[in-house]
Amino acid sequence: MSLELAAPRQSAPSVADDGVWLECIACSEQFAPFDDIRYTCDDCDGLLEVRYADPPTWDDFEGRGVWRYSAALPFAEGVTLPEGDTPLHDVPRLEEDIGVDRLRIKHEGMNPTGSFKDRGMTVGVRVAKELGVDRLACASTGNTSAALAAYGARGGMETLVLLPAGKVAAGKIAQASLHDARILEVDGNFDSCLDIVQDLAARGEAYLLNSLNPFRLEGQKTIGLEIMEQFRDEEGDYPDRIVLPVGNAGNTSALYKCFRELVQSGALAESDVPKLTGVQAEGAAPMVEAVEAGNDEVRRWESVETRATAIRIGNPVNAPKALPGIRNTGGTAVAVSDERITDAQRALAGEGVGVEPASAASVAGLRKLREQGRIAADEQVVCLTTGHLLKDPDAAFEAGDDPEPVPNDTDAVLAHLADD
Ligand SMILES: *Cc1c(COP(=O)(O)O)cnc(C)c1O
Ligand SMILES: [Zn+2]
Repeated sequence: MSLELAAPRQSAPSVADDGVWLECIACSEQFAPFDDIRYTCDDCDGLLEVRYADPPTWDDFEGRGVWRYSAALPFAEGVTLPEGDTPLHDVPRLEEDIGVDRLRIKHEGMNPTGSFKDRGMTVGVRVAKELGVDRLACASTGNTSAALAAYGARGGMETLVLLPAGKVAAGKIAQASLHDARILEVDGNFDSCLDIVQDLAARGEAYLLNSLNPFRLEGQKTIGLEIMEQFRDEEGDYPDRIVLPVGNAGNTSALYKCFRELVQSGALAESDVPKLTGVQAEGAAPMVEAVEAGNDEVRRWESVETRATAIRIGNPVNAPKALPGIRNTGGTAVAVSDERITDAQRALAGEGVGVEPASAASVAGLRKLREQGRIAADEQVVCLTTGHLLKDPDAAFEAGDDPEPVPNDTDAVLAHLADD
C-alpha cells in the first residue's frame, strides 16, 4: 500500500515532470503535475498526492524558512512573504505541570499572517501561477482565507473566500478584508462552504486552495522538517511524539508525508518517526471517533460546535491520508472539552506564548492523555500551536481578566492596587 510508512522509493512514470507527478492514494493512477487543473483522481475521485522520484535528505536543505526545503517541494522558489522558520519554545512550568520529560511548543502563529496556512499558500499560489489561473478561492474557518488573501495579493491575483456566517474570529476576517479578498458569508457551516467552493472549482470558476489541493500539503510538510531539525540540533535526538490540533487533517497528512519521504530517502530510521497524535474539540471530533473505532473511514458530523472555531469541522477531507498516519506511526487521537482548551490557552499565555483556542487544543490533548496514562512520563513531546492569539481577540478577552477602571490620580491608583 502506497501510504505505508516504509513504502519504497518509486521511479518516475512517463507522466512525471522533472521527477514530480500526482498519484491517487486510492487507485494509484498517475497524472502529470501541471498539465491540467485537478484536485482529485479522474478515475475514482480519490485524494491525490504529489510524488517525487528523488525524496530529500538533510544535506539537500539550505537557507531559511519554507524554501530552505525546496528539495522536498515541486519548485525552487515561490510567492513568499517569507514564511516558516517559526520558534520552538521552551515551556518549563507547563512541562513540569503536565509531567513529560521534554515539552517544546512549535508556534506556527509566528508566520506572516499568523498561522501555518502560510506555508501551504506560498507553494499553492506558486502552483497557481504555473497553471496560469487568475482567480483563487477557498472555504475557510478563517485562517486559510487570511493566508490566501495575503498570498493572492502578493502574487497579484484575485481572491474569493467563502466563510460560515458568524463563526469566523474577528482577526481573520479583518485580514481577508484588508488584503482585499472578496468575502462571501455563507448561511451554513465550514463543510457547506467547502461543498460550494468545490462546485465552483469543478465549473472552472476558480482555483481551489483548500487542503484538498495536494500542493498546499507540500508546503505544510516543512513544519515536520523544521521540527525534526530544530529538535535534533537542540535536544540531540528526534521527538517521540508530535501533538497537533485536527480540523481537515491537512497538517496530520502533511507531517506523515514528510516522515514517509525522509524514511524513503534513508534520512530517517523508521523507529525515529514521531508518533502523530491528533486532538479535536469534543463538539467536532469525527477523526477521534474513527481512530477510537479503528475505522478506515470517517463519518461526517452534520452538526459541530466549539469555541475553537478553526477546528469546527465535521467532515475532515484529508482523513484518508491522516488516518494511516496516526495508525502507522503508533499515535492516537483524543477529544477535549472547550473548558480544557481555554485552560491550556491560559497556561500557554502564562509562559508568554499567545495562541488562539484551536492551537491550545494540542496542549489540552497532551495533558488529558498524560492524565489517562496513555502517554508516558519519559516522552519527549512537541505540541504544535497553529495560530496566533490576536486571531481571536474575543476568545482572548473571555479567557483573560477584565481591565479595571481607576481614577486619573496616582494616589487613587495606589489605593486601588492595595485594595485586594
Ligand atoms: C486550519 C487550522 C487548523 C486545522 O488544521 P488541519 O490541517 O485542517 O487539520 C488548526 N488550527 C488552526 C489555528 C488552523 O488555522
Ligand atoms: Zn483513483
